Amino acid sequence: MTKMLPASPANIASAAKILQDGGLVAFPTETVYGLGANALDEKAVAGIFTAKGRPAADPLIVHLASLEQLPRVARTVSETARTLATAFWPGPLTLLLPKQPAVPGLVTSGLDTVAVRVPNHPVALELIRAAGQPIAAPSANLFGHTSPTTAQHVWQDLQGRIDLILDGGAAAIGMESTVLDLSTPQARILRPGGITREMLEAVLGPVTVLEQKRKAEKGLPAPGLLEKHYAPRAEMVLFTGEKAGEALNAYLAENRLVRKVGVLAADDEAGALEQAGAVVYRLGGDLSSIARAIYAGMRWLDGQGVDLILCREYGERGLGLAIRDRLTRAAGKVIGSS
Ligand code: AMP
Ligand code: MG
Repeated sequence: MTKMLPASPANIASAAKILQDGGLVAFPTETVYGLGANALDEKAVAGIFTAKGRPAADPLIVHLASLEQLPRVARTVSETARTLATAFWPGPLTLLLPKQPAVPGLVTSGLDTVAVRVPNHPVALELIRAAGQPIAAPSANLFGHTSPTTAQHVWQDLQGRIDLILDGGAAAIGMESTVLDLSTPQARILRPGGITREMLEAVLGPVTVLEQKRKAEKGLPAPGLLEKHYAPRAEMVLFTGEKAGEALNAYLAENRLVRKVGVLAADDEAGALEQAGAVVYRLGGDLSSIARAIYAGMRWLDGQGVDLILCREYGERGLGLAIRDRLTRAAGKVIGSS
């Protein structure tokens, strides 16, 4: 039986006890809700993979209450890593560091590096501190599905599969952390997220970004070249490039007579899209609102029973890069236009 409780001090204390006993607790962070287990207890960690239906080849992020806990999971901490941790923790930056032997191979999928961060959320920090252990926590959704930004989203996916959900309200950032690889001569972003490339470059100098496997070919759909992830149930189509707005409108006009079409839209485009017959989810007016709203929007449109979800990218500056990354992975099809 899964319980869902408000994140009061007493409930956080019970949650910490569940974690110490090898159980599974979903909790709020500033990025998305995490599904936590004691990272040093292999059986508990195995429970995460079972509950999510997550393949063992996908490594987990270990969450700490503070920088001081780092030696428990990382064998060495380079000067660069320390500088970044000091600059951005607590916050949505995950660092890959050489792992301690005490960290089970299941956490890192057999890799010699462990992914670590300190989340910037009072409930998460208090829970990890009270549990007294590093906490492995991927997003608290079924594997492949949209990440949860509220406790209700976790409930929809994981009720009956985990012990407890702590409800701490909606996530402030709404997108997963930036994953940064420090093993290359120049630091490399493996997954863009809440700490932007520009923020990292202000501290480190030039940073590279791992190219996504799937790229929209000019004017052509590019289906299925990348594993589908972070995805809603409805078919999703992403429009990229300078004429993304026009291409989306044309696609909507073609499809709306035969299918129920939903659109994830920035506020300034929403009215016209509604007029054109779409079910519109308003994302907000700036990049941080858009990032925060995207997953909730996908779930909401699924709930409206749409057959098709259309969306466009918002460039690659700041959070635009993370938004594009998640939309690309969620979409079954990318249509580029310029
Ligand atoms: P999630 O916990 O669902 O936000 O996903 C964690 C992601 O972090 C994984 O899917 C990987 O992409 C990345 N990751 C975690 N650990 C490692 C590692 N040791 N090396 C490379 N990437 C990692
Ligand atoms: Mg995830």
